[in-house]
Amino acid sequence: MSKVRVRFAPSPTGPLHMGGVRTALYNYLFAKKHGGDFLLRIEDTDQNRYVPGAEQYIMESLQWCGIHWDEGPGTENAFGPYRQSERKEIYRQYAMQLIESGRAYYAFDTPEELEAMRKRIEAEKSGNPQYDSRSRLSMKNSLTLSGDDVERRLAAGENYVIRIKTPENEEIVLEDIIRGTVKVHSSQLDDKVLFKSDGMPTYHLANVVDDYLMKISHVIRGEEWLPSAPLHVLLYQSLGWEASMPQFAHLPLLLKPDGNGKLSKRDGDRLGFPVFPLQWKDPNSGETSSGYREAGYFPEAFVNLLALLGWNPGTEQEIFSLEELVASFSLERVGKSGSKFDPEKAKWFNHHYLQSQPVEIVAEQMQEMARQQGQENTLEKLQKIATLMRERANFVYEILEQSQFFFEAPTHYDEGFAKKRWKEDTPEILKKLADVLEEVEPFDTESIHQVTHQFMEENQVGAGKLMPGLRLALVGSGMGPDLSTIMEILGREESLQRIRHAAENLKV
Ligand code: GLU
Repeated sequence: MSKVRVRFAPSPTGPLHMGGVRTALYNYLFAKKHGGDFLLRIEDTDQNRYVPGAEQYIMESLQWCGIHWDEGPGTENAFGPYRQSERKEIYRQYAMQLIESGRAYYAFDTPEELEAMRKRIEAEKSGNPQYDSRSRLSMKNSLTLSGDDVERRLAAGENYVIRIKTPENEEIVLEDIIRGTVKVHSSQLDDKVLFKSDGMPTYHLANVVDDYLMKISHVIRGEEWLPSAPLHVLLYQSLGWEASMPQFAHLPLLLKPDGNGKLSKRDGDRLGFPVFPLQWKDPNSGETSSGYREAGYFPEAFVNLLALLGWNPGTEQEIFSLEELVASFSLERVGKSGSKFDPEKAKWFNHHYLQSQPVEIVAEQMQEMARQQGQENTLEKLQKIATLMRERANFVYEILEQSQFFFEAPTHYDEGFAKKRWKEDTPEILKKLADVLEEVEPFDTESIHQVTHQFMEENQVGAGKLMPGLRLALVGSGMGPDLSTIMEILGREESLQRIRHAAENLKV
């Protein structure tokens, strides 16, 4: 097999959908698995749909996921440039080659004439209302006009397009790695536009020319491109490149959580999950869409969950690092049918990565988030909190939310819990305990634990009596982790202050 070279070829028309990231990921995994190259190519020939910032967004998304390209905008390489708008001259040359070999033709029809043709075919019910091998001979093009007329129109700068001349009666067959044999009869295909008089190719021509020149071995892309694949095969044949045609693999769709249709931005808004890797602010409408990064996902979790939306390892294993994915990935294990996106499962993945992350990293992220809310904390304290609290959280911000009592003394006490557990003699017992804790050395979990139990024994107070009151004083509610650990993290001064404050002020 020749060297594996694959490409991710997004059009910068907006933010990258998570399905697009999955396409990039599968390309990357396939390339790395086979020791090949992964290219990023920006398909920006459609100037009308160009959105400023989208290219930058796409690159930043891939970088965040750890999907690094070997070649792409910004890399010096013989196969570049990697932005189609910078390759305009190349496409013209191949459009001319197709004209000269009779595989394509000029067409001068106006939008009104095209519309009239469609209406006529519809009314006659004589076939597909399209520009094709049946209708082309009744249109204004270099097949019906004289050579002089065509020359005159071109010289006069008349608007034209170059269309492929689809063969009349041929079966086009392609082998798709995922979908198997795909057959289409050429009579179903229309004479697609390949090139326009503004000097720009359309997607189809540019895509095929670039895949050929960049020596792409496998085209791995979304299922929405399957209907274009027969045309691409025709183009390879027409350009005489059949022998170096890449292999195709069309990936199944990502489906809504209920399985009914393609996962869209609206589903995310409706059900409260992001469909984009990073937050995106639309430069035209100013509307902001949420992203996985900003929602608190680890890139490792996002990549892991995407990998399993369409591919399965054939085992029960669900947790995969990027390296493990590279080692296990194969296109043969990508299913034909769409994969339902499950937002709860997405959280489950993040939960896992939150637990396995070095605690230092979690603490750093907590520090940064708390800082943005105006709270300053030492990493040492945050590491202890993270160790204690992360097991119950799916996201770093949830640890912070559930740890607020570490940062602020209770401003009020859970009334229901206090009514049940705060007894008449609780204040007195707590004050006594505070005096004892004053002397504990060192003020750490173990010593606090030991002294508290000794205190209970000496004073004939059961845990059921002491602990709920102590918890109310320290946390403000009946919940939270082990009290000795809480006290160690709070420190002696803060702990005793809270205990004494509650003893003085909490009345039920
Ligand atoms: N530019 C196309 C897109 O936006 C690329 C499709 C392909 O990979 O051939 O998805």
